[in-house]
Amino acid sequence: MRIAIYPGSFDPITNGHLDIIQRSSQVFDKLTVAVVKNHSKKPLFTMEERKGLIRKTINGLSNVEVDHFDGLLVDFVSAKGAQVIIKGLRAMSDFEYEFQMALLNRKLQPNVETMFMMTNHQYSYLSSSMVKEIAALGGSITDLVPEIIRQDILDKFRKV
Ligand code: ADP
Repeated sequence: MRIAIYPGSFDPITNGHLDIIQRSSQVFDKLTVAVVKNHSKKPLFTMEERKGLIRKTINGLSNVEVDHFDGLLVDFVSAKGAQVIIKGLRAMSDFEYEFQMALLNRKLQPNVETMFMMTNHQYSYLSSSMVKEIAALGGSITDLVPEIIRQDILDKFRKV
């Protein structure tokens, strides 16, 4: 069985992430969306909230599951019996960091392959931080995040 892991902070999940999830779920038998726990930036949404928003979004994709990890990504990949890490690429600016991470992960675990999927052009400008910034300033996040979680994200900003 070909299993892939799609890691990220997903703070919160956007249409750009969802597009990568949908497309990679067609290439692999199983896809685990893996939310990073120890991230240098303090997330706005808690781990449970981020996982909940992803679950709501992927409802209907039967070979996709949501999990989280704490330590090294390659250790999580091995524990899941997966062979592939999926990364989305938006622009050249993503390239340098992802290139370094892919080579380091290969050094740590040569059996794990990193595969890159190009963003859909309409999401090339989209990031979780942009969504948060727009929502915080009262702008519209329609078309930026899955419609089913749009209100959940706006509610978070009403509370903070
Ligand atoms: P962000 O950079 O938005 O905070 P994450 O750390 O959650 O995102 O990113 C997880 C993965 O999703 C990374 O591989 C990232 O390159 C990819 N990704 C994020 N936004 C997009 C997008 N709009 N299109 C394609 N891939 C994306």
